[in-house]
Amino acid sequence: GPINTDMGTLTQEIDKFARDKKLEIETLKVRDQYRKEFFGNVSHELKTPLFTVQGYILTLLDGAMNDEKIRKKYLERASKGVERLVYIVNDLDMITKLEIGDLRLKIETFDIVEMVKNVFDMFEMRANKKKITLTFDTDYPKPILVNADKERIQQVLINLIVNSIKYGREKGTTEISIENLIKNKVIVRITDNGIGIGKAHLPRLFERFYRVDKSGSRTEGGSGLGLSIVKHIIEAHDEKIYVESEYGVGSEFSFTLEKAK
Ligand code: ADP
Repeated sequence: GPINTDMGTLTQEIDKFARDKKLEIETLKVRDQYRKEFFGNVSHELKTPLFTVQGYILTLLDGAMNDEKIRKKYLERASKGVERLVYIVNDLDMITKLEIGDLRLKIETFDIVEMVKNVFDMFEMRANKKKITLTFDTDYPKPILVNADKERIQQVLINLIVNSIKYGREKGTTEISIENLIKNKVIVRITDNGIGIGKAHLPRLFERFYRVDKSGSRTEGGSGLGLSIVKHIIEAHDEKIYVESEYGVGSEFSFTLEKAK
């Protein structure tokens, strides 16, 4: 460019350069902190099931193997631990892709009512175990066609429905409703009358690895990533996700989708 002989402008440019660099360094610092936290969380999450599996295998090798009953019990527990590891690694894989922005949405038109029914079928057994009733409610003419990434939205429904069962109370209900929001949007609500979430937790709820009751939800076998995956997927669609909850009363998660014409 042209040589700048105006000293005032030059000083301003140097100042701006310094400010930009400072900002860049700050951003890198934040990112580095983020990365450290991420790896800290990941190894922490993996440790518990890994130690469990290791413990059972070592005990088996130590002689517990000779007792047929104990052998079966310990192998089943080790297998549960491995299952949990698979869960966590799958979730990590997904969250990494989502955060890198490596998520190419495959937008297609599909019937969200049919999808809700399919997901209900998948989790009917699990709901039955807690005597939870799954209900679907819409005053809408069916089918309800939406434009979205079918596989990802199914993942969203799965995560929210599984949570409503996990954190639901015995003999409770999980209700899904779909309503017209504005001209080209619908809102899907997943409501439960489960344990609910205290107000103080709501702002951080969608953060990865965030859990309200660390010990309690760990036994339920989640990865603490479910809601952050949900949020990423909905935001990748340029849609919105909301949560309303009251401790001891229940929770409602809702998200918007684009209606197909
Ligand atoms: P997790 O694997 O722990 O279930 P999530 O990201 O899916 O992780 O959820 C984060 C936390 O939010 C849970 O640990 C739980 O404390 C709370 N939570 C999520 N859904 C519900 C719900 N429907 N009712 C009550 N608490 C919930």
